Amino acid sequence: MAITPELQHTVGKTAGFSGTSLHTGEKVSLKLHPAPVDHGIKFKRKDLQDEPTIDAKVDNLKTVERATTLGEGAVRVHTVEHVLSALSAMDVDNAIIEMDANEPPIGDGSAQPYVDLIKKAGVTAQEQPRKFFDVREPMHVESKTGALLVLLPDNTFRISCTQAGPNNRFAQFLSTEITPAIFEREIASARTFVYYEDLQPLMEKNLIRGGSLENAIVVRGEAVLSKEPLRFADEFVRHKILDIIGDLALAGRRIRGHVVAVKPGHAVNAELARALAREQARRNAMSTPRPVPIGDGGLDTDEVMKILPHRYPFLMVDRVIGFEGENKIVAVKSITINEPFFQGHFPGHPVMPGVMQVEAMAQVASLLLFKLAKTTSRIGYFMSADSVKFRKPVLPGDTMFIHAELTKSRGERLAKAKCHCVVNDAVVSEGELMFTFLDK
Ligand SMILES: [Zn+2]
Repeated sequence: MAITPELQHTVGKTAGFSGTSLHTGEKVSLKLHPAPVDHGIKFKRKDLQDEPTIDAKVDNLKTVERATTLGEGAVRVHTVEHVLSALSAMDVDNAIIEMDANEPPIGDGSAQPYVDLIKKAGVTAQEQPRKFFDVREPMHVESKTGALLVLLPDNTFRISCTQAGPNNRFAQFLSTEITPAIFEREIASARTFVYYEDLQPLMEKNLIRGGSLENAIVVRGEAVLSKEPLRFADEFVRHKILDIIGDLALAGRRIRGHVVAVKPGHAVNAELARALAREQARRNAMSTPRPVPIGDGGLDTDEVMKILPHRYPFLMVDRVIGFEGENKIVAVKSITINEPFFQGHFPGHPVMPGVMQVEAMAQVASLLLFKLAKTTSRIGYFMSADSVKFRKPVLPGDTMFIHAELTKSRGERLAKAKCHCVVNDAVVSEGELMFTFLDK
């Protein structure tokens, strides 16, 4: 895991190119401009009065029929996924995409022209850290047509994709981490492809006036029709990954997670982008801690400190909420950005170290053992930890509930406690701790 802060990036200077738009067939020129921190990606319609802009955000998603369309008010931009994919994968967080038409140039149907453009403009770091969406628990979206996207926790952004055409023709699979170097080498040049049977309705709807074998691969039966040979034996699944990156960029944050995609398409990709944005909104709304009872058989900070010798910055219990019977305890610890360990773990990416959660479990279990022993003549030493699992990251602003249950005490010398920590009603870590008692 990176320990240097990940900063936001923009393009170094303005750069542009022109081409044909896929759906209208008109000539369009596109310019990429630098933008300040927290600006995000915005499209600018230079051809319209007042040059309106549209945020590349999921809230502005309009239609997803074969391509992704954004709109604000009456203003639209179509087929935005390839330029967004390139910007996202090549590490550009903030930029203005200026166009003199309602659609970017289709180029050769891949994201290669946009990678070339970004490299021409250069990419420069900015002074603010990047915002991430950390996947805490599996999420999934599914469509009636059999498309399925699953998002799993991961330290990096990865995509594992299975693509299959009608009757499972051209079934292909690829799994890869997405970094700028991998995107440029493995994904960017994969072209759009269409099935011949899907072309007729598009032509009837007048949707692909700029379409030709120059900017798409056409699949007819088992035959592949294109101007140049396939660039990869599995070019189709690579293009599917390209589209997923572009569509998920609309979620507005960089994803740290593993996307597992089966027969993805713009509709289901957009659905996942919406789910991510909703989950982020829910997390933002949860920053207020819930009321935690005091008194009533619990212990306040003062009472905790009379029992535990630990002090700042190593006291990992704020309050004991209560004891249940003789062998159960629940305590609470508010995790704030002021915890000293966040300074180094990690700069720009604060995550509570797992060992600190184990320490919290040990301290809470000690409180239980102390109550049980009702004596100060002996002291419990933390001996071992078994079956320790860290299930979800604990972040600043979380309220961590620490549960411990005494499962075994052998004679007067040994005790075993089953512990787990809970944040937002989900177990974030667990373990079995063993203690021994020694005379002071
Ligand atoms: Zn595409």
